Amino acid sequence: MKTIDDFEVAGLRVLVRADLNVPLDGGRVADDGRIRASLPTLIALTTRGARVIVCAHLGRPGGKPDPRYSLAPVAARLGELLGARVELAADPAAARAAVATDGLVMLENLRFNAAETSKDDVQRGLFADQLAELADLYVADGFGAVHRKHASVYDVALRLPHAAGYLVQAEVAALSRLTADIRRPYVVVLGGAKVADKFDAIGSLITAADRILIGGAMAFPFLAARGGKVGTSLLEAGQVDAAGGYLDQAAPGQIELPSDVIAAAQRTAPGQVVAADAIPADQMGLDIGPESAARFAASIAEARTIFWNGPMGVFELAPYAGGTQAVAQAIIGSDAFTVVGGGDTGAAIRALGFADDAFGYLSTGGGASLEFIEGKTLPGLAALEDR
Ligand code: ADP
Ligand code: MG
Repeated sequence: MKTIDDFEVAGLRVLVRADLNVPLDGGRVADDGRIRASLPTLIALTTRGARVIVCAHLGRPGGKPDPRYSLAPVAARLGELLGARVELAADPAAARAAVATDGLVMLENLRFNAAETSKDDVQRGLFADQLAELADLYVADGFGAVHRKHASVYDVALRLPHAAGYLVQAEVAALSRLTADIRRPYVVVLGGAKVADKFDAIGSLITAADRILIGGAMAFPFLAARGGKVGTSLLEAGQVDAAGGYLDQAAPGQIELPSDVIAAAQRTAPGQVVAADAIPADQMGLDIGPESAARFAASIAEARTIFWNGPMGVFELAPYAGGTQAVAQAIIGSDAFTVVGGGDTGAAIRALGFADDAFGYLSTGGGASLEFIEGKTLPGLAALEDR
């Protein structure tokens, strides 16, 4: 895998695929972690005299322009961080014109074009052709998207000389420490709400990890599989059987579930602590309870390697932030090598007032980091292999 340091970029037009999929709040960037993580590559390229077109996606606009998913707030924030105005080009043609005069241009949300995420190779390829025409070099720096076989992630890399950016390089180096020569005990902490996306990873994590602590909405299929009552908690049909299979596959005690949760009828209501397997029928679990948080912290304290993905509760609301806070605190207190992954997990850490560098490595990828440590082939990395 070549990096940007292997290329003489002065005078070249460089297309950088970044991961700028940040949470927004009323048209403002609520957490700029992924924008900051993209800076080293963008600054290195522009400082060395490259003309840069940075492209990225935001949310799931469904293949057509939608102002709610415009990258405009992201371009504005990037401009603030760089101390220069960042022009937002509506489409590749506009980007081509703008980059002729500007040092750095941002292309509007790639997912405004249905071809970006199309399953059809030809359709994706046509869009990749348009992107490839913009540049002399392609730089992959959007680690959070490298597990997607999308036009800007995969197909365009096949059409241009290509290099990994500093973020992708750093991510690969850190996550590789979770795929071989792992220092044990290795403890994995899983949570969050994108349960379907992450569920498949559990099988291989059972093989790799000594212990898996499961909180957040991820816990409910497992609690239900054990016959627990989960009330109106977030739960998708089909996942209960899969969770039961994982519980059978795991060694006794290897998967640790919450014993108590904080439940309420609505998110806006103050919660009460209840047994995790006896959530009242009209209530949902919104955070792990204090007893579970203490048990999870004790397991974390014994670890020498930790991977954490997914908040333990609805941390955005103060009454349901305690579990995530406790896990973060325990991880900071341990001297294990730690990788924290997930867009919302990173945002949670910062929202709760922890510094990024209090953790061993803060990955910008959620699904991508999980798939990497599962040992899967990630299209955006495979495309960077030397041909
Ligand atoms: P990440 O981006 O770190 O991979 P996810 O996207 O999977 O994490 O999940 C983050 C979201 O999970 C947060 O917005 C949080 O509010 C939500 N969440 C955590 N626990 C629960 C729960 N018990 N019920 C509903 N949502 C939850
Ligand atoms: Mg998320």
